Amino acid sequence: MEQDSTLSRVVADASWSKFVSMLEYKGKWYGRDIIKVPTFYPSSQLCSTCGYQNKEIKNLSIRKWVCPKCGTTHSRDHNASINILNKGLDILKARTLPVSSLRLDSVESLNEKPPLL
Ligand SMILES: [Zn+2]
Repeated sequence: MEQDSTLSRVVADASWSKFVSMLEYKGKWYGRDIIKVPTFYPSSQLCSTCGYQNKEIKNLSIRKWVCPKCGTTHSRDHNASINILNKGLDILKARTLPVSSLRLDSVESLNEKPPLL
């Protein structure tokens, strides 16, 4: 059983590595920046509205939660996607200025057309 788990992880890591290298290749081809968000960035735990970190959300079975600080209701994956986008934009901002106007501040703005970089 342990061996299967290890093998699955090796296969998953290799697939992810290949996916990232293909993404970097395509990004370079089209003149786009590919930004890697740190592996342990707590994207699911952070409230994308106020920044509060809810450590109870480590439990993957929790799909929706209400921020105890600001009261915003979050869908786990949607909230994480906003946080990942904003973290990537922060990393990009630190590299190249100015991109401060690209920050995503609300869930509603996800329905808008994405900004061109
Ligand atoms: Zn909040």
